[in-house]
Amino acid sequence: MPVTSCFFLFLFLLSVPLLADDEASLDAVFKKVVSEETPSEVQKVLPVAPASPAPKPVVIVIDPGHGGKDAGAVGFGKYREKDLVLQISKKVALEIKKIMPARVYFTRQDDRYISLADRNLFARRKSADLFLSIHANASENKRARGVEVYYLNNATSEAARRLARRENEMGLPGAEEPLTQGVIARMIQNASTEESAILANLIRENLVGQLKRNYSGIHDLGVKTALFYVLVDAKCPGVLIETSFVSHLPEAKRLANRSYQLSIAQGIARGVKSYFEGAGKRGYNL
Ligand SMILES: [Zn+2]
Repeated sequence: MPVTSCFFLFLFLLSVPLLADDEASLDAVFKKVVSEETPSEVQKVLPVAPASPAPKPVVIVIDPGHGGKDAGAVGFGKYREKDLVLQISKKVALEIKKIMPARVYFTRQDDRYISLADRNLFARRKSADLFLSIHANASENKRARGVEVYYLNNATSEAARRLARRENEMGLPGAEEPLTQGVIARMIQNASTEESAILANLIRENLVGQLKRNYSGIHDLGVKTALFYVLVDAKCPGVLIETSFVSHLPEAKRLANRSYQLSIAQGIARGVKSYFEGAGKRGYNL
């Protein structure tokens, strides 16, 4: 073997144990440093993953339509919208709380008059994520019946315009403030139209589905749009649910029945839950 090769072999053999020793000693030192530190000190040294944001509590405002001097629609002299929708609204709150974590508030819990503007204001003060206005329908056509869910937008039909006129009647400041182009523009601008449409469809689907499972002759009148004053300034997705007709005797009787009210409440609650499940990516955590 030439002298130079022999020299390099010597260096190599010398370096192996040195490297091994160095690694071993570094290892030992590291272990010692770590083992001498308390767990809290280790946590201070080691990088900590950023904490995930706390789950955002869902805030729901339930708005039983009418109240006090405003009876809403009255069927057959005794089926008063304001009473029926208050009973249904309370059941809706219970059913929502059964199936999802949520803070639920009512615009009214008894028979009192509240202006439509104050209902909006209440939802804003509570930083509502969702606004549910619950109503019962009526028509001069005694055969009209069924379930329909509205969100705020230009009216899709003359019937929707008529309904909006009736629902808006009591709440407008000043006897009959007309829905001017300015008011309408503000309505549309403030409305979470896309989200409200998604919500309306999910509530309709679940509400009609639930009623059909338990009752015959349920009419699905679908999702519609109209200019409802109560949905104007809530600043969150909102819908107005016309649960059934007080002007149709069988439906009026059903509306006053606890089991029917419960089915309505369960259907609405499932629709709301489906909405928030779908909205999970936008920061809600059920
Ligand atoms: Zn109403």
